[in-house]
Amino acid sequence: MTPVHHTLTILGATGSIGVSTLDVVARYPERFSVYALTGASQIDKLFQQALQFKPRYAVVLDEAAAEQLRARLRAAGSETEVLCGADALIRVSVALEVTAVMAAIVGAAGMPPTLAAAKAGKRVLLANKETLVLAGQLFMDAVSVSGAELLPIDSEHNAIFQVLPRAHREHPYAQTLRDVGVKRILLTASGGPFRTRSFDTFAAITPVEAVKHPKWSMGRKISVDSASLMNKGLEVIEARWLFNAQLDEIAVVVHPQSIVHSMVEYADGSVLAQLGEPDMRTPIAYGLAYPERVDAGVKQLDLFAAGRLDFEAPDYQRFPCLRLAFDALRAGGAAPAILNAANEVAVAAFLDEKLSFVGIPALIEQVLNDCAGACRADTLQDLLHADTQARESALRRLG
Ligand code: NAD
Ligand code: MG
Repeated sequence: MTPVHHTLTILGATGSIGVSTLDVVARYPERFSVYALTGASQIDKLFQQALQFKPRYAVVLDEAAAEQLRARLRAAGSETEVLCGADALIRVSVALEVTAVMAAIVGAAGMPPTLAAAKAGKRVLLANKETLVLAGQLFMDAVSVSGAELLPIDSEHNAIFQVLPRAHREHPYAQTLRDVGVKRILLTASGGPFRTRSFDTFAAITPVEAVKHPKWSMGRKISVDSASLMNKGLEVIEARWLFNAQLDEIAVVVHPQSIVHSMVEYADGSVLAQLGEPDMRTPIAYGLAYPERVDAGVKQLDLFAAGRLDFEAPDYQRFPCLRLAFDALRAGGAAPAILNAANEVAVAAFLDEKLSFVGIPALIEQVLNDCAGACRADTLQDLLHADTQARESALRRLG
């Protein structure tokens, strides 16, 4: 059998997921080639990556960064062309030569090129969960119209994907979960660095403490989201869209060891789980090679070293972000988009030491109250408008 081959665009190549993706890609030069690499402004990293992977294009945020990278690449004899801006991200995501797009930009900024890749019928390796929070319905519609192949990279969703029946995995909207005998999706959560910390001290949590995740090494924004449990909230919304799940078909289970990456409960009482080391190269390699399996360079899971697996109920009191996300999903319309935008502003302010850790859910709740009734959600323009309104409201409240 000829192995699967892909020509890739990696959106957010310089980030945590991007770097892990290139690590897997580098192991299989005969299977994967790189068409484009993108990064916001980490010119040094992108320069090194461009020399190693020889993409046709490198894309950065603005012309100043592009000029700098272009000069360095030219001096090094590289033939990679440098582009910049949001339009260039879309261009390299829809190019005819590209068969698969890794969507690993952080935040709502990643949505337009990810949606464009879906519309163009690419294999979409979806790490950017914000795309589904912001525009879940539109994105899933685009996937089904174009026949794009959607592979979840978020570890929990990748785990669920792996243990769902194949029919549902590949055509989730052709039937309901119930039709394929699934009762519930059990989404695991590590609980983050503050799982056992006394709530009295939450107001004093510093950015350094919040980005130190006990099990996963990730970008700063998702690390703060993991600490507030907003990450799990965003993942509930992500699961709703990816798997055509109703709200009452998704349960969050805190599992501090992060070895069980999620589970699916069937009508007959079976619960199927996917286990592994907490290393994003596993879901990335799964998505790249699907339906084949390749060595991802991941350490073998040592169950004896792990010893035990614990499970707890989530604490909605200490972690109100999780409740806010469930509420936003229940409210529907533009509420998830508003939640997402307010969270991005809140997290940036927290990292800037302009907002306390407990201020994050407080700000999001205020913004939801400010905006929710006022925003439509019928078109992409509506959602982008809701996103803008929510950011403005959050910034106004931050003063
Ligand atoms: P990161 O901060 O390490 O990397 C983000 C990447 O996006 C970088 O390449 C950066 O240059 C680029 N970027 C940032 N802002 C941009 C903008 N405005 N325009 C264009 N590019 C921009 O983030 P990460 O941890 O790699 O996460 C990426 C995405 O994957 C997020 O949506 C996150 O929720 C999701 N995810 C990450 C992990 C993980 O283990 N890191 C796990 C699951 C899901
Ligand atoms: Mg996850």
